[in-house]
Amino acid sequence: MKLSHLLLFLVFIAPLASALDTHSAAVKSKSNDCKWPALSIEKNFEGGAFAHCLQLSATEYQLDIHPENTPINPSPWYGVKVSPNANTDVNIKIDYSEFSHKHRYWPKASVDGKQWYPLPENSVVVSNDKQSVWLHLGKTNKPVWIAAQPILSNADYDEWLKQIGKGNDSVSIKSVSLSVGKRPINQLSFIEDTSNPYFVILGRQHPPELTGAFALQAFVDRISQSDELATAFRRKFNVLVYPNINPDGVALGYWRHNLNGVDLNRDWKHFKQPETKAVIQAIEQQVAPSKLLTMIDFHSTNKDVFYTQRDSDYGKFANFTRQWFEQINHQQSAIAFTREASRRPENTTSKTYFFNTYGIPATTYELNDTSTPANVKIAGTVSAETFMKWWLTNTN
Ligand SMILES: [Zn+2]
Repeated sequence: MKLSHLLLFLVFIAPLASALDTHSAAVKSKSNDCKWPALSIEKNFEGGAFAHCLQLSATEYQLDIHPENTPINPSPWYGVKVSPNANTDVNIKIDYSEFSHKHRYWPKASVDGKQWYPLPENSVVVSNDKQSVWLHLGKTNKPVWIAAQPILSNADYDEWLKQIGKGNDSVSIKSVSLSVGKRPINQLSFIEDTSNPYFVILGRQHPPELTGAFALQAFVDRISQSDELATAFRRKFNVLVYPNINPDGVALGYWRHNLNGVDLNRDWKHFKQPETKAVIQAIEQQVAPSKLLTMIDFHSTNKDVFYTQRDSDYGKFANFTRQWFEQINHQQSAIAFTREASRRPENTTSKTYFFNTYGIPATTYELNDTSTPANVKIAGTVSAETFMKWWLTNTN
């Protein structure tokens, strides 16, 4: 090697090579086996999700967050359990930058995996570009779960269904089929007389949309009660509830899709996915088309909103959507909804499918991601009460 070439190597190539080495060492230490002397980080629970972990310093750790596949809506979910081995300072960086996504969900914490609370303001620092967020948990020796929203797992749904079924003869719970990952797609039904008209309620097509999931539970809880209103309602109407249409996504902490990487709320036309197919077949087997009155599909977004058809679109029950919406807001509970009415017959959402197929009002019921659990519960309860009253009053 000529001297000039040697110099060139020393000045330019050698530092570059060592920089590459450092980089590859850093990449290599990213793993799923996140155990260090001071603590371990796990995701082996329902809703647990991160792609890689990395120790940055004695007290700092990074978790990379990846979607299940792309393209995908920006709902970056994360779920971890942090278990310190001794009293140690815990600082975790949640990093979305590998897929250029932005922080959306304020972190929730739990010491038992059941009761959740939002992390305090002073322990959460979102970066300016929103592609990462630091969680400063302080010194602790106790395990803590951290997730994008409170976790409502498949096991939690099973427990909830069992509670509703207790002591109510008209309630039945069954699996109508299996998901891609062989998890049951459950149906909860309230049927006193199969010749009565029916309502359909859908939930959890999109796993991170927890405020909508909790609103569905509050809505159904209210319908299941034994007071005069709910009893009269169930005597006159049947209800089919599919509370958890994407159980694989729920278990795996997915951002939006099913195990095939498909948005289930874009499959309500050709029904290529087992989850949507199971639900529509169960409905068709039980309900004559003329007997279906309306459909509500619970979701979450960045506001409290009803997505509906326009009043002028309705042939049947033309006043229902407007009056139900007005009556909910008239209660002046903690949540006031806006309404966005449109008619896009080419869409492949559940809302469009039920309107196109049955000519009935169909609503996508969206709660704000940031609505508090207490307010969500009130909204779900008030929505059920006004819903039951409207249908009892406006049908023979
Ligand atoms: Zn959704």
